[in-house]
Amino acid sequence: MTLNHIVIVGAGQAGYQVGASLRQEGFTGRISLVGDEPGVPYQRPPLSKAYLLGKVAAAALRFRPPEWYEDQRIERIQASVSQIARAQRSVHLSNGTDIGYDHLVLATGARNRVPTVPGIELDGVFGMRTLADADALSPRLATVRHAVVIGAGFIGLEFAAVAAAKGVAVHVLELGTRPMARALSQPMSDVFSAAHSGWGVTLDFGQTVASITGEDGRVTGVETGDGRVLPADLVVYGIGVLPNSELAAEAGLEVRNGIAVDAQLLTSDPSISAIGDAVSFPSPLAAHPIRLESVQNAVDQARNVAARLMGKPTAFAALPWFWTDQGELKLQIAGLSEGHDHTVINGSLETKQLSVLCFRQGRLIAVESCNRPADHMAARKLLARASTLSATEAAQAGFELKAYEAASREVASSA
Ligand SMILES: Cc1cc2nc3c(=O)[nH]c(=O)nc-3n(C[C@H](O)[C@H](O)[C@H](O)COP(=O)(O)OP(=O)(O)OC[C@H]3O[C@@H](n4cnc5c(N)ncnc54)[C@H](O)[C@@H]3O)c2cc1C
Repeated sequence: MTLNHIVIVGAGQAGYQVGASLRQEGFTGRISLVGDEPGVPYQRPPLSKAYLLGKVAAAALRFRPPEWYEDQRIERIQASVSQIARAQRSVHLSNGTDIGYDHLVLATGARNRVPTVPGIELDGVFGMRTLADADALSPRLATVRHAVVIGAGFIGLEFAAVAAAKGVAVHVLELGTRPMARALSQPMSDVFSAAHSGWGVTLDFGQTVASITGEDGRVTGVETGDGRVLPADLVVYGIGVLPNSELAAEAGLEVRNGIAVDAQLLTSDPSISAIGDAVSFPSPLAAHPIRLESVQNAVDQARNVAARLMGKPTAFAALPWFWTDQGELKLQIAGLSEGHDHTVINGSLETKQLSVLCFRQGRLIAVESCNRPADHMAARKLLARASTLSATEAAQAGFELKAYEAASREVASSA
């Protein structure tokens, strides 16, 4: 069918990118980008890093200035999509209008999981997902003395590093036994535990939260599962996200840990694609469908869908990569380390310039690089072409990932 009108639901990283990529691919039809957040689409990563530190202004977070959308004829509509009428190929907006589509792209992202504890509604308790969240939280950092962070994941620890740098006493409560455990190897978790301790952050593992305490509607502390009350004039939680898949589910699309898509990022309806944090997709790197929460995933999936809609279909197989900045540490991860059974450390734990190479059944599956950007770039190239590097080779004295990648590329191209 001829595509005259593509409607995108969600104007975040993936939604913006699919609009931009459609124009780059030469799509000349109508594009409507419907998003429920106010303002011009913006990047989230700096919210818990440079923006919170006051190093970046709000305007610099925008992917593009407002005029760009006009130039590109990408119609921005600020509204929530409340229903998809698949039989009519139209979406219903919260402002009462209906928009017809030839193809619909769902890029609805995810929302924070909110801890179900008494006191969560108190003033001074924050999640961190939107510019509005960061704008509400940021001014408090100048005056608070004690912050409690619930969850030692990426966002909680990014916030902890910023707050500690601003002189706030930070106490992190984490149910698990180490930081960022869902995504990192033990050695790299250890690097970040040591770094946070060095910045004065207290990391408290194996802990639950019983309640958040308050006075006159304002937070005053956090009561832990083991009965302590920690002082807090600010509480930030980061205990993971839930995919925004209800709209898809209500429209009868398949949903399993996110909107289910096939290898080409199509939902169970051939007129509807889905991309980004909201999506569970088959990956050549995993035995079961996965859902990733990263800029790379949102951008690469958006590009893949734009190319398919312009007649260039490919199975989505981009190598996942991710980064986090905490204090002076920049961690970059290439690949997925889930299920690794062996690690090799390359570099120095003391100077915190190192890469952890993660192997599963003898095969390199991920590389975590801390303050070693050259390793990260080499790892991305190496993993993208299914590396044959063995753990024994990687453990040899003087092994350099960048040199190995260059040499193995030469061998591959001359074979
Ligand atoms: C604080 C923070 C720091 C991060 N740091 C990093 C990082 O360092 N590196 C990294 O790789 N990733 C990072 N991420 C993750 C990254 O930002 C996300 O993976 C990425 O934004 C996902 O893009 P998306 O378009 O799928 O979702 P989003 O960017 O969340 O966009 C989805 C949009 O859809 C809107 N929406 C939902 N439902 C509807 C509806 N029914 N109608 C209209 N609009 C709707 C939402 O309000 C939202 O605006 C960070 C995320 C956060 C929150």
